Amino acid sequence: MALPDLSSDEILRYSRHLILPDVAVDGQRRLKAARVLVVGAGGLGSPVALYLAAAGVGHLGLVDFDVVDLTNLQRQILHGTADVGHPKLASARARISDTNPHVELETYETRLTAENALEILRGYDVVVDGTDNFATRYLVNDACVLLGIPNVYGSIFRFEGQASVFATAEGPCYRCLYREPPPPGLVPSCAEGGVLGVLLGLVGVIQATEAIKLIVGIGAPLVGRLLLVDALGMQFRTLQLQRDPECPACGTRELRQLIDYEAFCGTAAGSVTGEDAVPELTPLELAARIGRKDDFDLIDVREPHEWAIAKLPGARLVPLASLKEAATAFDPTREVIVYCRAGVRGAKAVRQLQEQGFVSVRNVSGGILRWSDEVDPTVPKY
Ligand SMILES: [Zn+2]
Repeated sequence: MALPDLSSDEILRYSRHLILPDVAVDGQRRLKAARVLVVGAGGLGSPVALYLAAAGVGHLGLVDFDVVDLTNLQRQILHGTADVGHPKLASARARISDTNPHVELETYETRLTAENALEILRGYDVVVDGTDNFATRYLVNDACVLLGIPNVYGSIFRFEGQASVFATAEGPCYRCLYREPPPPGLVPSCAEGGVLGVLLGLVGVIQATEAIKLIVGIGAPLVGRLLLVDALGMQFRTLQLQRDPECPACGTRELRQLIDYEAFCGTAAGSVTGEDAVPELTPLELAARIGRKDDFDLIDVREPHEWAIAKLPGARLVPLASLKEAATAFDPTREVIVYCRAGVRGAKAVRQLQEQGFVSVRNVSGGILRWSDEVDPTVPKY
């Protein structure tokens, strides 16, 4: 296929690439001809899309269905304060076209699903995975394997990150590394576990670097290698990854079509891990009981650093990890009401106390976040 020519404006814009012997005019023309899909316009997708646009990738696709939330701005640098409440794709478009008007941006305002993934991914040269959940990560991987598109993977948790290049002709895929997803609820999300914002920039820029290397055809991509980033120790380690001949996606190829990834990861609505599977009460009901000075124990099962941000009146802090032992000193015939940030840990606490013989124990639905929405907006959300 003939590579597109560069205009004189593009030659000036990309001059620092053009004088790099390994990139030069041909490499820049390859970038201009390239089609890269970025899944997610969040913490990883932001630096990836910005740097790929600046580098002159000719056609960028961006998939996201979310609106900008104030809590995103700590790390999602595609979006600004004025964008809160608006679709992420709108701020992404404005930012990317300002960074480089030569980029053709195609946006997909939808959740990537097994139904639409093949249609959206087909025709791209490289896919960059900027998702934040296991279901979409397996979906992106399987779609890339089925279509034969390299999958530039990145993920982060708190102070640690990972990156690799999956689903190439010769290398392993994400399923070779993680055959099964972790049990639902075992690995907290960024919203539950927190994340160092700048780390997403670090890992996202590694993903953008890998995408550019694949397109230009230079260097040694992270194929068959898993890069581990430890931001606190500032250490980078590389693990060698083998393709797993038993991998259902890239090994035996028994996976011939996309599956139900929410069910595969146990995150489908109504699954047993849902917080509504335990007895609960609403924040308004709890407020009424506190107002009547009813007699019950109110237990906050969050962590001390969360307690320092906000707490409910009359509550006692017993972090979930220490609840089992602490509860042996409680009276199991007394009524207990528990709460956490959003309701998930509270539901676990209820189940645990029920197993320990507590007869009347309920979870505050939606946790302290819903309390702030429905009872007392002066309680800060985090
Ligand atoms: Zn595989």
